[in-house]
Amino acid sequence: MKKKVGFIGWRGMVGSVLLKRMLEEKDFLHIKSIFFSTSQIGEKNPKFSNFLFPGFLKDAYNIEELKKLDIIITCQGSLYTQKVFPILRSSGWSGYWIDAASDLRMNKDALIVLDPINHMHIKNAIYNGIKTFVGGNCTVSLMMLALGGLFRQNLIKWVSFSTYQAASGAGSKYIKELLEQINFLNQYLSKKSTFSQSILKIEKNITSITKNFDFPKKNFLIPLILNLIPWIDSSMPNGQSKEEWKMESETNKILSTENNNRVLIDGTCVRVSSLRCHSQSFVIKLKKDISLHKIEEILSNDNKWVKVISNDKESTLKELTPLSVTGTLNIPIGRLRKLNIGSKYLSAFTIGDQLLWGAAEPLRRMLKFLV
Ligand code: NAP
Repeated sequence: MKKKVGFIGWRGMVGSVLLKRMLEEKDFLHIKSIFFSTSQIGEKNPKFSNFLFPGFLKDAYNIEELKKLDIIITCQGSLYTQKVFPILRSSGWSGYWIDAASDLRMNKDALIVLDPINHMHIKNAIYNGIKTFVGGNCTVSLMMLALGGLFRQNLIKWVSFSTYQAASGAGSKYIKELLEQINFLNQYLSKKSTFSQSILKIEKNITSITKNFDFPKKNFLIPLILNLIPWIDSSMPNGQSKEEWKMESETNKILSTENNNRVLIDGTCVRVSSLRCHSQSFVIKLKKDISLHKIEEILSNDNKWVKVISNDKESTLKELTPLSVTGTLNIPIGRLRKLNIGSKYLSAFTIGDQLLWGAAEPLRRMLKFLV
């Protein structure tokens, strides 16, 4: 019998990318899909040209309806997980919970899923009766896929990162706000007279428009367009942002490293005005001095999505930008070179689509393991 799978948060950024991938891979043929909403209860189920889901959206807060499901996959976000998961579990529901939100990741009875890296842990967890599976933080998953070979061969002593994270990483409201910011600037830029002004005058006017009280910034709090925000998520007591804290803690949980063998990872996470795809720059200290050629071989051979990009300007502009990666499962890694500070210090730059491998794809593949 087909498993009953409930979809929560399918309308958001991650959820809609998940449905798109499931349609592409014909995953819906193997499950009975039930759609829920927190805000549009009673409206029609999603409709696609090649797939119809007859029926109406159920209430995502109705515990009795949720209890009927074998598997719940939620991309609704933290507030929903915090509100529903404990009540559902304490009601005796023992189905599988697959989640995109961060809340349950570090729970001891939950596994962070990224199967090209921790496939064996996932298999063991299912065998051992684990019922809660959570997608990793987007930058963590993208870093691990890019550096998979070096992690697998235990070659990394520490990694220092700087991220360049897209606006869409914050969710639908934020991407709309970025576009509203562009629109606001356009009121000045689209005037014919604007470009006849001197360049310094244009720059001054643009700066003063972005500082205007009415500039749209309800969600980001400050303008993101023509700017950047070096803080993502809440604050940790040690001065890190929570996004920065997740890099080391989640990576080591995914790798199941012992306390004395943890990979040290720290750096700065930055929101930039890219539309989609997160970029990351790394300084990596290797445990031993290995040749760049060997490093490239180790990286390329780890999984079928990672691709080493030759360290030259033409290849970098062609294959190592958010625009060249968006909407694909590709994980290019380039700018690979040994740093002048020593032969064990490697520099690298990688990009991945944070809505695909950074969010929806590990969840889709987890669902597939279960059905
Ligand atoms: P999102 O786009 O804000 O969607 C979340 C929910 O907001 C939707 O399911 C929908 O719920 C509601 N919503 C309200 N207005 C909407 C609109 N105009 N368009 C679409 N949905 C709207 O959030 P998200 O970015 O997908 O993130 C979901 C979870 O995944 C979060 O926990 C996030 O931290 C995590 N995550 C996100 C990313 C990313 O790149 N965005 C990456 C990794 C993990 P109703 O239909 O019930 O109203």
